[in-house]
Amino acid sequence: MGELGSIAALPHLKRAGESARALLRAALDLALPRLCAVCREPVEGEGLCPACWSKLSFITRPYCERLGIPFVYDPGPGILSMEAIADPPAYQRARAAVRFDDVSRALVHALKYGDRLDLAPMMGRWLSQAGRELLAEADALVPVPLHWRRHWARRFNQSAVLAAAVSKGSGVPIAARALKRVKFTAQQVGLSRTQRAANIQGAFRVPQDGKAEVEGRRLVLVDDVLTSGATAEGCAKALLRAGAGKVDVLVFARVAEPGRTSI
Ligand SMILES: [Zn+2]
Repeated sequence: MGELGSIAALPHLKRAGESARALLRAALDLALPRLCAVCREPVEGEGLCPACWSKLSFITRPYCERLGIPFVYDPGPGILSMEAIADPPAYQRARAAVRFDDVSRALVHALKYGDRLDLAPMMGRWLSQAGRELLAEADALVPVPLHWRRHWARRFNQSAVLAAAVSKGSGVPIAARALKRVKFTAQQVGLSRTQRAANIQGAFRVPQDGKAEVEGRRLVLVDDVLTSGATAEGCAKALLRAGAGKVDVLVFARVAEPGRTSI
């Protein structure tokens, strides 16, 4: 016999090697400290180091009560931005935990593509904090759905993961059947505002078996990022058409040019 035995034994040896490698990987995962999702430095606790945390820009008042975009100065209570007055959205109010920038983008990408589901409880807490007023009046949370093809490729929906974390903290239940993505849309990245709106046209629908979760209810739509607002608008319109009492929007990060006031 040669040193590897018969040729027939080779696939078996290969499998044994693979499972040994898997075991070694598991042992290393236990031994290695968790890495910061942004700078990849070892970190204790929740996956974001203090230095990167301090670079996040949390959105607090003063902001437009409708769109939630921050003002550079305080125009007084209840003032709306020019954007909200000129082009009011279908949804009632939008709130975001942080501005979309390099640090928050890294967190969102780690959750979405890097399988860093360990970040969800922390991000969910910040969402709950930013959406406290919305959640206090809400009947249910509606995660922005993925098309089944994208869901299958990515294995999980980051909006549903965030909604689950918010639900756990706030006690507001999730309306899992409320909304369906019926059109496979191209990625919104690189599209203009008008193109985004056209891209999302007819993409969302309340299915027959989801109507009971929508009719007459106050809903909070949950998503990871709000860019042009086209996705939130498309979802809100579909929910309102199906009889929702009210739709608010809660996202982790939003693109936020400083809002202009009408005064
Ligand atoms: Zn870091």
